[in-house]
Amino acid sequence: MKRIKILLFSIVYIALSLLCGCAAKPYHAQTRLIMGTVVEITAQDKKAIEAAFTEIERIDALMSNYKPNSEISRLNANGQAKVSHNTLYVIKMAKYFHKLSGGAFDITVGPLVKLWNIKENMQKEAKQIKIPSQERINSALSYVSSNFIEIDEKNSIIRLRKKGVSLDLGAIAKGYAVDRAVAILKHYGVKSALVNAGGQIYCLGKKGFVYWVVGLQNPRKPNGVLDTFKLSNRAISTSGDYEQYFIYNNKRYTHIIDPRTGYPVDNSICSVSVFADNGLTADALSTAIFVLGEEKGRKLAAKFKNVEVKVIKR
Ligand code: ADP
Ligand code: MG
Repeated sequence: MKRIKILLFSIVYIALSLLCGCAAKPYHAQTRLIMGTVVEITAQDKKAIEAAFTEIERIDALMSNYKPNSEISRLNANGQAKVSHNTLYVIKMAKYFHKLSGGAFDITVGPLVKLWNIKENMQKEAKQIKIPSQERINSALSYVSSNFIEIDEKNSIIRLRKKGVSLDLGAIAKGYAVDRAVAILKHYGVKSALVNAGGQIYCLGKKGFVYWVVGLQNPRKPNGVLDTFKLSNRAISTSGDYEQYFIYNNKRYTHIIDPRTGYPVDNSICSVSVFADNGLTADALSTAIFVLGEEKGRKLAAKFKNVEVKVIKR
């Protein structure tokens, strides 16, 4: 009896000291503007957070198509480039998603992204916006296909088979950067953290004893939360028509382009959230499903282990 009491007392003591230990170590939430978006990292170890940000900045320096010296910019300018294993991996994965999605996910959308120029058009008044002609869309489309990307894995060289083809990793690099940040945090021994790169999120472990809670924005009400999810060791990524878009003649033109038509996606979907075991998969699939529509999108998701999908219709 006495032994049981001592054992019980020890368990209570250990549990209390664990609780106190957690309470004693506060969480820090830090944000930085990287990859054209707000990146937020929440964890208890400030040094680890700093190292994780440095890694995301490194990935951005490799894969940005705004930074003229990035590997992607050099590749786009020269049609060929020797690249890091990181860039090679992301391009390889992008080609894989291109194949599985039947061409809905395509990092060669670069010329179409430029043509539609959603980022700049968003700032303009409707009367200043010019919708590209079918001729120009057809011309841009002739440079769009991931089959133009040649990967020389042995020499770590990427070649673009046609002059004028250009890559845009906007739908996959943030998810990958989140995965890299999580890897760095783990390297520092961090067991509990949340990384959010503009809606590409990974929840590492739990926050103390409870799950991380991620809110899903109402696509038509900027301050409204539509749903919340309790997550642990899970990625979530949302692609939607509500952050980067312009309205012209009562029609919404969003930043996700259907590479099969050359036009911004116009189906009944407002947003797609994908839950997966890693950020890259969640990021790429959320875009692919947004393009494919709910029915075909769910079929694509079913090909992956541990992937769940939440679709919000217009
Ligand atoms: P966000 O950047 O808001 O997370 P997405 O992950 O869906 O949104 O990525 C959209 C970005 O990816 C676009 O801004 C563009 O750069 C690029 N993109 C647009 N359409 C496609 C597509 N069909 N396949 C791959 N990348 C795309
Ligand atoms: Mg994304």
